[in-house]
Amino acid sequence: MGEVLDIRDLRVNVEDKEILKGVNLKVEQGEVHALTGPNGSGKSTLAYSLLGHPGYTVTGGEVIWKGQNILKLKADERSRLGLFLAFQYPVSIPGVTVANFLRTALNARIKANDAAQAGPLVATEAAGKSKGISIPEFRKLLMAKMKTLDMDPAFAARYLNDGFSGGEKKRTEILQMAMLEPQMAILDETDSGLDIDALKVVAEGVNRLLGPGMGALVITHYQRLLDYIKADRISIMFEGRIVLSGGPELALELEKTGYEHIRETYGDKALA
Ligand code: ADP
Ligand code: MG
Repeated sequence: MGEVLDIRDLRVNVEDKEILKGVNLKVEQGEVHALTGPNGSGKSTLAYSLLGHPGYTVTGGEVIWKGQNILKLKADERSRLGLFLAFQYPVSIPGVTVANFLRTALNARIKANDAAQAGPLVATEAAGKSKGISIPEFRKLLMAKMKTLDMDPAFAARYLNDGFSGGEKKRTEILQMAMLEPQMAILDETDSGLDIDALKVVAEGVNRLLGPGMGALVITHYQRLLDYIKADRISIMFEGRIVLSGGPELALELEKTGYEHIRETYGDKALA
């Protein structure tokens, strides 16, 4: 069996208000776990907390990956443990192409790895000496990954985020994920809103990249994503907790009953 991302009783405050009220969720390497639930239930809060965003204060619980509580690690340390967290996403930078951005991201990872191997005393020096990936090597890798994802090679020459649609932003994100070859990816719909094209890009990218070595937590409030993505497990979040977990059959159930049913069954009023 592969590694497991194990979220245990996670509690998170945003501006002194408790948003996550004890989230328990396991995602295994090699499987796609879809996290869904109505707007405002805390899905993005979970994603931001896993990313270590400063606006999200963890008040309890832990997130175990490879034997470590990742909540205590810096972003680059999480990345070096094979975690990919979406919205490590740059704003539009004039004159930077998608290819340039991806090479910088990949080199940052390679240099951090070289530095880590050199040990703490010479780490800075080692990072400075590390040349990263050569341009021909990078191009070869990039073209191979774009082929896997069935992307037009011309996309790599586009300027980053310059008038990008939701779908194109997601395409960059999926390509970045493909280049970094993570063991666990956490993808949120943030920014793409209701853009169905963006959701299809994510679903197809995950379907193509997934193998025994990669796991993914795919977050969306949009039930239709579950038609496109081959989720092994589905969990439903509501009011800061996971209220329901199950296999792919849960998607069909959700389609029939909708979130309204979840609200009625698990909402504060229902529990009162
Ligand atoms: P979802 O992604 O499921 O739609 P969110 O995690 O975005 O839910 O939001 C959950 C709750 O937390 C909402 O009530 C939202 O208003 C609140 N919230 C999330 N992020 C912030 C923030 N940065 N500032 C204030 N409130 C926030
Ligand atoms: Mg959200």
